[in-house]
Amino acid sequence: KALANGHLTNGISSASTERIQIINDEKAFTPDLTTQIERWGLRDAGFNYNLVAVFGSQSTGKSTLLNKLFGTTFDVMDETRRQQTTKGKNLSFREACEIVLTEITGIWMCRGKDMNVMVMDVEGTDGRERGEDQDFERKSALFSLASSEILIVNLWEHQVGLYQGANMGLLKTVFEVNLGLFGKAALSGTHSRTLLLFVIRDHIGQTPMANLQTTLTADLTRIWENLAKPTELQDRKLTDYFDLAFTALPHKILSADKFESEVINLRTRFVNKSSEDYLFKPAYHKRIPADGVAFYMEGIWDQVQTNKDLDLPTQQELLAQFRCDEISSVALSEFNEQAKSQKRPVESGRVVEGLGAMMRNWRTDALTRYDRDASRYHKGVYGRKRAELLASLDTTLSPLFLGQLKNLHKTCLVAFKKEILDGLRGDSYNFAEVVYKAQGRCVEVFSETAQEALVQGTEWAWEDELESLKEEVRAVADQCRQDETKKMVNLIEKNFKKLISEPVDLALNKAKPDMWDSVLRTFKEILEKSETTYLAKATSFNCTEEENITSLAALRKRAWLALRAKIDEQTADPAILGKLRAHFEERFRYDEHGVPRVWKPEDDIDSAFKKAKDETLELVPLYSKISPVDSTLEYTLPSEATDTLSSEEFDFPATLIVFTETKTLELTSKFRRDADAYYVEAKRSTVASIAQ
Ligand code: GDP
Ligand code: MG
Repeated sequence: KALANGHLTNGISSASTERIQIINDEKAFTPDLTTQIERWGLRDAGFNYNLVAVFGSQSTGKSTLLNKLFGTTFDVMDETRRQQTTKGKNLSFREACEIVLTEITGIWMCRGKDMNVMVMDVEGTDGRERGEDQDFERKSALFSLASSEILIVNLWEHQVGLYQGANMGLLKTVFEVNLGLFGKAALSGTHSRTLLLFVIRDHIGQTPMANLQTTLTADLTRIWENLAKPTELQDRKLTDYFDLAFTALPHKILSADKFESEVINLRTRFVNKSSEDYLFKPAYHKRIPADGVAFYMEGIWDQVQTNKDLDLPTQQELLAQFRCDEISSVALSEFNEQAKSQKRPVESGRVVEGLGAMMRNWRTDALTRYDRDASRYHKGVYGRKRAELLASLDTTLSPLFLGQLKNLHKTCLVAFKKEILDGLRGDSYNFAEVVYKAQGRCVEVFSETAQEALVQGTEWAWEDELESLKEEVRAVADQCRQDETKKMVNLIEKNFKKLISEPVDLALNKAKPDMWDSVLRTFKEILEKSETTYLAKATSFNCTEEENITSLAALRKRAWLALRAKIDEQTADPAILGKLRAHFEERFRYDEHGVPRVWKPEDDIDSAFKKAKDETLELVPLYSKISPVDSTLEYTLPSEATDTLSSEEFDFPATLIVFTETKTLELTSKFRRDADAYYVEAKRSTVASIAQ
């Protein structure tokens, strides 16, 4: 019992030859097989491994043979104990044959030395009376048959032909259950054939090998014919499921040398792939990847144990689901680790350089990892789980992509604004050009970076985001243009004021009936020039028709107001009174030749005074209203002309009035007082001249 527990290494401690008990005496499957397969270095072997098992009575040298063939480390019962068990009991031949049944207590597995072969050996206690516990042996035989590529059937020469001898009877049961469980699967081609390799031990040579082979084949055929088969498999032949091979080994003790050399010959057939009678034919392979063997065998054991009528494809599918899920989650967790590294930068608003390349790499890596390990499993399941994995990958990547786009949008817009601001510094810029260039660069940078972030195979798109960016860029550009237009209109207005100043001063200083004609003529000329200046610039700005209408209206109104301000300046009380006084003086104090008058007592001061005063007072109505003689020069500003640049109320006709009536009266009376002063002064001067 002590031997059957734990990892016994027979003094060899290297992991590659470690044994493992895959099924213990409580018929439980080990949870450690996957780990062990990894320790054997076979985890990544894929399909590049073989599985062989042995079947036969207790103490027929099974373990001895396996150890010699594969360099395994299975326990071999020593000679003395063997003598005590079978031979020591001094049984009759018949009894000996019946007792050869092994009460299985466990199944062991070992890796072949320097070969990718997993070898299964059954371990049993000493033979007991038949019938006591056939359950385990039947199950272990069935298990070996269903899971291995080659089943070595080990028997003594003298057991051949003894149908009643336990082995053949056992085979019958095993065939029967095997057919019931896996027969259908085998027909559909999903469960491969198995080789039954009969090894006849202690072949002395009395009966030629050919005869033994004939006997065994006949026995097997008879067994097969008498099987209780499922109806739909009634016509199936033994050869539909099994290949048979036969070999004999000489007596281990009596012909020790020949025994050794024959064992070596047999070993070559397991090892040498190019050998003509190479035993591990691809057709026997169960097509279970090495990393799935543990799970697969456990499933078979479970099926055998519970004798459930399950199909192997289902079993393979279950295995595939389990393994593909496992492989997928490993791939996914590595992937998530990588993707996490860029989550924070993206969330913090950064545009991560080369994000697309990174995402594509993570994704490809994850898929490659998955494909490498999972593609060997059931194709349908593999494909389905791959699609699921892909969906998970893309679900993780999608927020990164969208975040990148959003951040890109923001930074592009900021860069665009900055470029415009920088471009509009100084005086020598071309506004339209600055905007055009910045716009182009913005779209280019966005498109390039967005395209880089794309991952092939997804339905991600960036075009909508670009459209929305373009819209915002357009809005910023519009705002800039409006600001720029305002600046331009202000500049034109300033210039207009400068140009209008002198001509208006001149015109209003000489009060003539057509005074307003020249004021308005000048106004129109300068305004026309200003409008031309505006339109030339506005065209280069790409201003809209509507913007031009608004700006021109504003310009006209401001020009008019500038003119009015100039007129107000020239007609303010001191200015207008000065003008009136000058006009009066010219007429009253100077004669028609411009010579100052010296009043004499006989002069008609009163008439002269009245004439000069009346003529001067006529000027007041002339100044009081902007009204040209030539009516074509009349200027009207549509009062509804909206000026978005200022919000003041504006009543154009009112602006034509320079002086109100009250103002006119006030000015008249002020002027009269001034004039009266001149009259008094003139009178006094005559009195003075008389007094002299
Ligand atoms: P197992 O129970 O079938 O695994 O048998 P073992 O390999 O443990 O061997 C049982 C005994 O049979 C040991 O004492 C071996 O030395 C002996 N033995 C092994 N091979 C042969 C053989 O080919 N012929 C004979 N006569 N004895 C053998
Ligand atoms: Mg053994």
